Amino acid sequence: MTPAARLFTKASVSRAPDRPLRLTPLRSGILEIVTRHRRPIRAYEILEQLSGHMGKRVFPPTVYRTLDYLTRSGVVKRIECLNAYVAILQTADTSLLFICNACGSAVGVPDPDIDGSLAKDADAAGFAIEHSLLEVRGLCRNCRSQADS
Ligand SMILES: [Zn+2]
Repeated sequence: MTPAARLFTKASVSRAPDRPLRLTPLRSGILEIVTRHRRPIRAYEILEQLSGHMGKRVFPPTVYRTLDYLTRSGVVKRIECLNAYVAILQTADTSLLFICNACGSAVGVPDPDIDGSLAKDADAAGFAIEHSLLEVRGLCRNCRSQADS
């Protein structure tokens, strides 16, 4: 199983059974490209690689529609500040996204304390949270050890 397929299977398992995820060749192709890239990738880069991957021309609206599906499925995350996408298993309990400024890798981690604190603050403000994922920029373990040596 490829990393992309593994990611998709995990996401499917974490979903409500009445909303199963379906992996079409196009979704699979885009997920493979985003997963293989290992850094945030922009939509036009996906488009460039996809036509070769699929063996036929793919048009931008198709790519955006598919990225939208994958984002809603929780396997791809759009990083707003970079306007690029990363492959990540975003479950209901992913609270933080650590994004490396040097290599662009992104890691999602759960943090019940932050979720609890956000819920409390939102409550006090009379605000109903629909979705939150904090993007935290810095240096990943790999890049830090390279900088040290
Ligand atoms: Zn890094």
